Amino acid sequence: MARTVHIIGAGLAGLAAAVRLAPSGATVVVHEATAYPGGRCRSFFDRTIGMTIDNGNHLVLSGNRSVLSYAEAIGSAAGLVGPAAAEFPFVDLTSNERWTLRINDGLPWWIFDKSRRVPGTHLGDYLRLWRLLRVGADAPVGQVIDCSGSLYQRLVHPLLLAALNLEPREGSAALASAVVRETLAAGGQACRPLIAREGLGPVLIEPAIEHLRGRNVEVRLDHELRAMRFSDGKVAELDFGADTASIGAGDAVILAVPTHAAAALVPGLSTPQGYRAIANAHFRIDAPPGTPPMLGIINGTTEWVFAFPGRLSVTISNADRLMDVPRAMLAQTIWQEVSRAVGIAAELPPWQIVRERRATFAATPEENDRRPAARTEWGNLVLAGDWTATGLPATLESAARSGHRAAELVMSGSSV
Ligand SMILES: Cc1cc2nc3c(=O)[nH]c(=O)nc-3n(C[C@H](O)[C@H](O)[C@H](O)COP(=O)(O)OP(=O)(O)OC[C@H]3O[C@@H](n4cnc5c(N)ncnc54)[C@H](O)[C@@H]3O)c2cc1C
Repeated sequence: MARTVHIIGAGLAGLAAAVRLAPSGATVVVHEATAYPGGRCRSFFDRTIGMTIDNGNHLVLSGNRSVLSYAEAIGSAAGLVGPAAAEFPFVDLTSNERWTLRINDGLPWWIFDKSRRVPGTHLGDYLRLWRLLRVGADAPVGQVIDCSGSLYQRLVHPLLLAALNLEPREGSAALASAVVRETLAAGGQACRPLIAREGLGPVLIEPAIEHLRGRNVEVRLDHELRAMRFSDGKVAELDFGADTASIGAGDAVILAVPTHAAAALVPGLSTPQGYRAIANAHFRIDAPPGTPPMLGIINGTTEWVFAFPGRLSVTISNADRLMDVPRAMLAQTIWQEVSRAVGIAAELPPWQIVRERRATFAATPEENDRRPAARTEWGNLVLAGDWTATGLPATLESAARSGHRAAELVMSGSSV
């Protein structure tokens, strides 16, 4: 068992590793480059709309077992809220049709029931989707399933677009397969949508920091790792600019930073190179009574609308095409769609647009192949992060799972 474990990066991967390691008896120190923990999963006060918002609306599913076990460990699982059943209301802005996908628990008899499945689809469409579960060598999704027809447009496309954050036909079929296996194919009990209604910070980040500090884990903010020095096949020193930390025999380092930061710190590391953006829009307005917590939009720029207290927020994945659209124009376009979808006759309310250019790595087969394992060639260095080889796309579940795996490697002593 390592004596001191240095965890670099206080995103969900680093925090999940720290929470797992806190009771282990090792001295655990978390080093975060910025003044706030959370990384790509954080809340902040936005002056324009005068409320606290998240950098992006984050959907968790009830089958995301690593995120849920992390939330349970830090005592905040009750802050992830959603409907009692796996129900997903949708509206098609072209045809004006509305329907609710209702996935039952256990064996998937919902695909036999017209009132539960997607309108305009047939049983055979769902059975053909099962091809995705038998993917061998990785390939683009478009080479494995038929990317046309109502089931694709109204269910597979929105699900995989949200999970992979790129145009699904280009996406890794191996990653798409993992998503379908852990959600749709696992039954309604794995598909209940959960949202941090009070915000990502209050639910997933601040309780973790409090939990860690209460267990003598030091969380050092504004403490960026600038370089690592290696000797005899191990990390020998961490260089933080103003100070350094020597890595003694039996100590370990978990590097839980984003792709580009890891590539700069570890010589010769294979990492994904491409990214995809996500855009979010936030509107300060009360949702009309009856608005579902989450609404899927088909045939719009808007993809998902989330109803928070006093705010409607929108997620648009694979949003590189929107990065240079003037903000006011984008807000207006999205608001027209949202007001139609939820039935509000109001002028554009106070709004904010948040665009994250490097939201996730591009989940293509080529990029998936570049993801490194947690173990490295350096005996005391373990990697974590949503972009490491977890078998999942870049999601909170991938981040939490990678953090848990890194902690287990360190605890088992196989990394020191
Ligand atoms: C807009 C948006 C929407 C999203 N929506 C969803 C969703 O609906 N569902 C879902 O499951 N996932 C979603 N995701 C993905 C999810 O946010 C990420 O997968 C997850 O937060 C990644 O966590 P991480 O710890 O791997 O990396 P990060 O969150 O990037 O954390 C890395 C940390 O390392 C720090 N760091 C970097 N360099 C150094 C250094 N040299 N020294 C010290 N610290 C350093 C960074 O500051 C950061 O805090 C979304 C992401 C975005 C951006």
